[in-house]
Amino acid sequence: SRRWGKAMSILKEFEEKCATPTWKLKQVADAMTVEMHAGLASEGGSKLKMLISFVHNLPTGNEEGLFYALDLGGTNFRVLRMQLGGKDGGIISREFTEVSIPPNLMVGTSTALFDYIAAELAKFVNEESQDFQVPPGRKRELGFTFSFPVMQTSIASGNLIKWTKGFNIDDAVGQDVVAELSKAIERQGLDMHITALVNDTVGTLAGGRYTNKDVMAAVILGTGTNAAYVENAQAIPKWHGPLPKSGEMVINMEWGNFLSSHLPLTEYDNALDAESLNPGEQIFEKIISGMYLGEIVRRVLCKMAEEAFFFGETVPQKLKVPFILRTPDMSAMHHDTSADLNVVESKLKNIFEISNTSLVVRKAIVELCNIVATRGARLSAAGILGILKKLGKDTVSDGEGNKNVIAMDGGLYEHYTEYRKCLENTLKELVGEDLSDSIVVEHSNDGSGTGAALLAASQSHYL
Ligand code: ADP
Ligand code: MG
Repeated sequence: SRRWGKAMSILKEFEEKCATPTWKLKQVADAMTVEMHAGLASEGGSKLKMLISFVHNLPTGNEEGLFYALDLGGTNFRVLRMQLGGKDGGIISREFTEVSIPPNLMVGTSTALFDYIAAELAKFVNEESQDFQVPPGRKRELGFTFSFPVMQTSIASGNLIKWTKGFNIDDAVGQDVVAELSKAIERQGLDMHITALVNDTVGTLAGGRYTNKDVMAAVILGTGTNAAYVENAQAIPKWHGPLPKSGEMVINMEWGNFLSSHLPLTEYDNALDAESLNPGEQIFEKIISGMYLGEIVRRVLCKMAEEAFFFGETVPQKLKVPFILRTPDMSAMHHDTSADLNVVESKLKNIFEISNTSLVVRKAIVELCNIVATRGARLSAAGILGILKKLGKDTVSDGEGNKNVIAMDGGLYEHYTEYRKCLENTLKELVGEDLSDSIVVEHSNDGSGTGAALLAASQSHYL
């Protein structure tokens, strides 16, 4: 029918605009490399902030003692403790708890957010068992993973540049987040010292390095997205401090804010951005990360309903509700292997109150999920190629058997199988056969929390 034809042409046009052929991904990777250079050259030189992390020594395996970590960065926050055994001892015990952040606290006041976090931390510390031991006379020490852009002033201090991922707490912007957390910890009557402030990507890099010495970069694909990597300290013109002994510095790219004319952006992305809490910001993040993929799908479906009566005479009201389709639900539809697409049917019913859809309609929805996930996954692979290029590791070197390992984490990467497979295949496609065995993507399960505790250990006041 004419309506079906119209719906399919909307879908087809969207697919064309989302296309990411290899040549385009290479342009994106080159643009990433160029922006990396610009961001390292001067403060504000690029949309890529290329933040200096003050981490110039990654974990060695000699870390020893009890350390805590607190990971704040999205929908949930995690608190963990680890007893580290020192040289050859590894991680002796490890415990964590995960708590979700009440949505009102994400847009409230700084004090309310930090008090809530500190209270959860205090509860967790109170449950510490005999498996964990703080030497007498010492304070407990904490690594704080804070996954928002921060201008660090030292390894244990830094001012919040801006919020992302649905957080918006005005009075925290520009503040030292370590000071804010410290005050909240004191208000809880807890005696604890924050010895390291790290971004989740930096934590993941540190956690990955602890178990694999070939880890040179980390990428997070969760609610948002970001990457960090080990840079040559002399390749950072904007760094005027003393050159670290190691000759290296971990850079937090804040790649979610990457922008390039080569990115395949559509009318739906532009509208999503314009209506977001942070218009014009985090454009890369808005097309590849978990907070947004489901929302992009919803927007296309909405247009198909409004202009081509895709779901019948009237536009289902629920389809108009922003962010009602979460990425885990999108991924469940995408992964539906049943012959009559039962999962798609039940998601449509439960989320949008849409029933009586035909199989072809459900198939088109799976195809739409595929288009959105494929674009995101392929662009993340292009971003990784950009990092490899910056480090000159995108061509075959004479060093035989050298491996470059990228530690990956985040709920999107972990749970969205089609996305992950597409990312890994695309990376192989981009680097070519000769290199594809030496470039390894490794899942670093909760590397960011572990990494923060490890960095807290290497920054311990009692060393
Ligand atoms: P955060 O990024 O908030 O620190 P996570 O790394 O756990 O937390 O990522 C959570 C995000 O991962 C969710 O917001 C969601 O977008 C995505 N996600 C979680 N589960 C799935 C799933 N089954 N399929 C697709 N995406 C998922
Ligand atoms: Mg996280």
